Amino acid sequence: MRRARSLAVLVVVSTLALAGCSSVGHHTAGRDAYDYGPQATLRVCVLHTDDVGADRVQALIGAVDREFAAYGIRVVVPWTRAWKRAGFSHEALFDDVAQRTLEAPCDRLVAFVDRNAGDFLWGLVMPEVLGAVDQATHTRGYVVATRASLNQLFSSPTATSVHEFYHLLGCPHAATMTGCYARIARLKRAILPEADFFPGVAPDGSFLRTREAVNDRVRPGLAGP
Ligand SMILES: [Zn+2]
Repeated sequence: MRRARSLAVLVVVSTLALAGCSSVGHHTAGRDAYDYGPQATLRVCVLHTDDVGADRVQALIGAVDREFAAYGIRVVVPWTRAWKRAGFSHEALFDDVAQRTLEAPCDRLVAFVDRNAGDFLWGLVMPEVLGAVDQATHTRGYVVATRASLNQLFSSPTATSVHEFYHLLGCPHAATMTGCYARIARLKRAILPEADFFPGVAPDGSFLRTREAVNDRVRPGLAGP
């Protein structure tokens, strides 16, 4: 059962690995064509393994904050908590983060994970996963935050963070960013001030405008067939 669920989860996650997943697209002049509305805050609660220090978390979140300034989105971290990686495999890691309830005031929950020697060897023999975001809500995910693998020579932890955070705004992989700009503009317009929540995104692109709507999709037993 556990195995079956892990496989199901694996099928629906967006992953960033050397092969398969490379880009949410190149920036285009279209970025300036959209009205992103008033400034909004994206509150990202952070879990981190022991080897990922506060300065590392700050540097990676800072890179995302600078990237998202163009859309009038400020990225802040309400809290960081120490966390032990749930297992060696991508599935075990992802399951742990993806099944957690999003507690107030978090809009997103991201685990920053260290690399260990086992991962490094694994990366030599098959494409290695450097991050993932849940597609059911686009609110939870993880990022490999330290540099110890060959694949990361091609995709730095900073680039991986920015990439995964675009997924956290609902942007899919694409050749260019043009569609992503429109999505971000729509997502910001979907913010309900009274909900005190930066909306999540369902698999069909619709918005989950309250934290409760997101958590309803997380709880085991409430998932669709
Ligand atoms: Zn990706």
